[in-house]
Amino acid sequence: RQAEYAKIRDLPATSKDGIDVKLMMNAGLRADLPGFEEVNADGIGLFRTEFQFLVSATLPRRERQTRLYRDVLEAAGDKPVVFRTVDIGGDKAVPYMRDELHEEENPAMGWRALRLALDRGGLMKVQARALLDAGAGRVLHIMFPMVSEPWEFDAAKALVEEQRAYLARTNRPTPKEIRYGVMLEVPALAEMLDTLFPRIDFMSVGTNDLTQFLFAADRADPRLADRYDWLSPAVLRFLRRVATAAKAAGKPLSVCGEMGGRPLESLALMAIGIERLSITPAAVGPIKAMVRSAEILPLREAMAGWLDSGCSDIRARLTEAADAQGI
Ligand code: PEP
Ligand code: MG
Repeated sequence: RQAEYAKIRDLPATSKDGIDVKLMMNAGLRADLPGFEEVNADGIGLFRTEFQFLVSATLPRRERQTRLYRDVLEAAGDKPVVFRTVDIGGDKAVPYMRDELHEEENPAMGWRALRLALDRGGLMKVQARALLDAGAGRVLHIMFPMVSEPWEFDAAKALVEEQRAYLARTNRPTPKEIRYGVMLEVPALAEMLDTLFPRIDFMSVGTNDLTQFLFAADRADPRLADRYDWLSPAVLRFLRRVATAAKAAGKPLSVCGEMGGRPLESLALMAIGIERLSITPAAVGPIKAMVRSAEILPLREAMAGWLDSGCSDIRARLTEAADAQGI
């Protein structure tokens, strides 16, 4: 198998019927970077910056953050890296904020990610400055986690822009361009796409959090792990609606949750029109092999039929269709 993946390492993830799929990888630590070369990913679609905060005993200083972000950009060469601003709080507790991060009844729905970052602007300012310094002279992609309402995106972007203006005013180097994106993880945001898309440059769906909120089912509870299916019509209809809106708005949409790294699930995503995935590095080879042996257009037609008719066994139907194609 590994030999088979190595053989297609430099070939594109293009389906038999000509659909080009972008396969980026998720990362969070320096240790993940060698994997980038190894699997030849199309970029880093999700860099979880909070990992540095989680493994550190004290708040990482700005220079340390800058060094890490610079190394990540260096490793990716001219391919894009999407830096997600800190997603701490909730169940991702950091020791140096113990006083503020007291126990919450529902940590996943609590004071975390962008909510915390907007309330503690200092933290975000330092991170923004580190990102801007590291991205000087380049195209920098910044993505905000757990955005629930469009104004939160505006506020977060304004914070970064303030730092950019400061650097420009003091004649220091800044990125050539900044592209701003949001993670779609909170279902309420999906009701605001018409006002959101004009403000943003790209969107990535965090299906881990999104599905836990769609089904009201804790992603960390093993008793619920198998109860709800990523291939259920509710999830796929929801994502199809978002994919259609993104296409109409001309904004790139990707999926960066674990769903995208599973073969049948990623096939379902392609069948609803999502052609950009950011997945765990180990999944890049297997998913690429699968895409290259698939015909996506017939699956699109079949999927539309299943979703429109309210079919409840999409997993079985898709398995059958994949088998019939010899995928
Ligand atoms: C997600 O929620 O799907 C996601 C990619 O973010 P994380 O798993 O880090 O919460
Ligand atoms: Mg998430």
